[in-house]
Amino acid sequence: MSHDTYICSRCGTGYPLDSLAFICDCGGLFDLAPFKPDFPPSGDFAAERSIFRYARAMPPFLGAERRWEDSWRRTTMGEGLTPLVSLDPSNPDVLVKVDYAMPTLSFKDRGAAVLVAAAVTAGAKRLVQDSSGNAGASVAAYAARAGMACDIFVPASTSPRKVAQIEAYGAKATLVPGTREDTAAAALEAATAGARNGTTFYASHVYNPLFYQGTKTYVYEIWESLGGRLPDTLYLPLGNGTLVLGACTAVHDLERLGLLSRRPKLVAVQASGCAPVHKAYASGSTVVEPVVNMGTAAEGIAIAAPMRGSLVLTALRALGGEVVTAPEDGIHAARHALAARGFFVETTSAATFAAFFGRVSAGLDEGVVVLPLCGAGLKSL
Ligand SMILES: *Cc1c(COP(=O)(O)O)cnc(C)c1O
Ligand SMILES: [Zn+2]
Repeated sequence: MSHDTYICSRCGTGYPLDSLAFICDCGGLFDLAPFKPDFPPSGDFAAERSIFRYARAMPPFLGAERRWEDSWRRTTMGEGLTPLVSLDPSNPDVLVKVDYAMPTLSFKDRGAAVLVAAAVTAGAKRLVQDSSGNAGASVAAYAARAGMACDIFVPASTSPRKVAQIEAYGAKATLVPGTREDTAAAALEAATAGARNGTTFYASHVYNPLFYQGTKTYVYEIWESLGGRLPDTLYLPLGNGTLVLGACTAVHDLERLGLLSRRPKLVAVQASGCAPVHKAYASGSTVVEPVVNMGTAAEGIAIAAPMRGSLVLTALRALGGEVVTAPEDGIHAARHALAARGFFVETTSAATFAAFFGRVSAGLDEGVVVLPLCGAGLKSL
């Protein structure tokens, strides 16, 4: 018997994983069915060298844990367990988590590893995904590993290196003219047709809430690296909010399990040229409305109409988090400053640091801070 994996956020209807549904018949987005996370890892899981050391903190798929474990053991590439090191050896209070040290060179592997293992468990034959680049590369790599066909839709403006990476894994990359939203619409059409004939899993980091069960391991790892605590402040990039939602989930989990003595401050960073969540946050609104992308060097977080935007804002507010913008003229300087310390990141990743450096210059002291290095520098040259 199949247990429900998803619950509609609007009407509460449940859907099993093997239905291949990715949105409710009523049009509501999926949340996960409630489950009890088990953390920290123990027994065999404590020895596992991938994000699946936290498999028991993820939902038991289809009520058949054995089948889920068989799936992820087949598809994992040892993603996760990334280094947590000081940005500058002379300042132990500013730490970076080197999340470009991943199989496809971005943190998206955390979510893609979980989604593709779930797709294997669901018996899917083909994956569809849309992205501004990195999520597509991640899903394409794991699809190759799982032996599944894969279609990735990207905006025509995507960095040619990211497209080359997607195609290298054997996926079909479709370049869609127009906005990021036009790309999402093209993928949605392909995913809808594919799900209807029972073969295609929409491996979307926006629609599928299982993605955040992967990204939440980012915070679990920090907790373990710091010896069972979190830092005072966590800076996170905010486009669609996949890392933010994962981080909020993890902080929640750790609190519920009684493993946090103090809650960290979450600072989510948007590009000033495309900041719909910041706009709602600053005006005190609970609803994130689409904006027009005015252009930014941080293409990876330039999401003008984030599908889960209001949910991200609510999750951040519930934890006392902040939403800030990165000064556009500080992004390239931040990228150089990181490289001068040995860390070469893609431009998007530097935006988070531009915001942080700006606040430090303004005299803000946020204690021990952890910032992510989300994507490798060679992805955007
Ligand atoms: C995906 C991505 C982000 C932003 O993540 P969201 O989930 O869209 O908030 C930031 N930096 C890099 C390098 C990314 O690939
Ligand atoms: Zn519904």
